Amino acid sequence: MKKITVLGSTGSIGISALDVIGKNPERFCVVALAAGENTNLLKKQIEKFHPEIIYVKTKEKAVILKSNIKSNVEVLYGKEGIKEVASFHDADIVISAISGAAGLMPTLAAIEAGKDVALANKETMVIAGEIVTRVSKKKGVKILPVDSEHSAIFQCLEGQKREFLKKIILTASGGPFRKMTKKQLQNVKPKQALKHPNWKMGKKITIDSASLMNKGLEVIEAKWLFDVQISQIDVLIHPQSIVHSMVEFIDGSILAQMGIPDMRIPIAYALSYPERIENDLPPLNLVKNGKMEFMKPDTKMFPCLKLAYDAGIAGGTNPAVLNAANEVAVEEFINGKIKFTNIPKIIEKVLSLHDAVNEPSLEEIIQADKWARQQAQKIIERKRS
Ligand code: MG
Repeated sequence: MKKITVLGSTGSIGISALDVIGKNPERFCVVALAAGENTNLLKKQIEKFHPEIIYVKTKEKAVILKSNIKSNVEVLYGKEGIKEVASFHDADIVISAISGAAGLMPTLAAIEAGKDVALANKETMVIAGEIVTRVSKKKGVKILPVDSEHSAIFQCLEGQKREFLKKIILTASGGPFRKMTKKQLQNVKPKQALKHPNWKMGKKITIDSASLMNKGLEVIEAKWLFDVQISQIDVLIHPQSIVHSMVEFIDGSILAQMGIPDMRIPIAYALSYPERIENDLPPLNLVKNGKMEFMKPDTKMFPCLKLAYDAGIAGGTNPAVLNAANEVAVEEFINGKIKFTNIPKIIEKVLSLHDAVNEPSLEEIIQADKWARQQAQKIIERKRS
């Protein structure tokens, strides 16, 4: 029986993960859950999965929740609370599915405690990849990718000698705005951006998919997860989302992993690795899907991808700044305060103002993140006034 902690249990990945766990009670059980604000759903999850310890964001939420549940589960909150839940002694594996840079400290706490991590929170790798990979090596913990592209690459590399790997090819659906003109793109509304053609995901990542920033973050994530150079990572637009990514070897052979676009498949693989488990999902019907297309991404229309490549190559605190500025810009776009096409402009401006630190400490990364958020806010306020 594998004992599991789910960080971000009420988010899109958390819900899918609990679905996988609930359908495999002979293999998996839940020992700890962490959620932000959605105490109604968390309460249901507690009643169904009986964790020993849980986390909610604030003291108020913790008090309300405690008075609403019959079980004698321990309820924690605040900065120390999340670390305690993330490093809870009883867990074998921690699913890291908190959205954004907020996932970094809990993920590191899990690794420090020697827990294997099923990583859905790509921002952790983007902003602190060097530290996360170093500490996980030292602690002997496995980082198992949940992100569908990285799960695909991980599967394609299984049993292969790394010296023969030439390239990683990340696929991207291209998002809902792939065929738009520049003018149309300037006027898109948050509601349109939140409609992803193939995947059902949380708000932030759906906007990132529409701007191609998600793919850019995934390039940096892949660099650290698979120990390759950024120059070895290509991105291809593949609107059908059947091939979840590919690897190319020195002899020209390319291996691809295919499947229906459902996060429960990579989640289950990360949890059951190196085994595979059956599920009740519809099989991939290649005949019905018909064609598969691949094309070059348009970085003129979607500059976020290039910004991420550049920040990834520059390294140091640049990726943390890129990510923080993006988080602020996306939030303000969702709030209707800025245009979709201003997202890359704000990020570019913040990056241009940044005095990067090479081989940053955790403290320096957190500082850079904070600084970038302030700068992004300043730029947005200046534009509005
Ligand atoms: Mg992905």
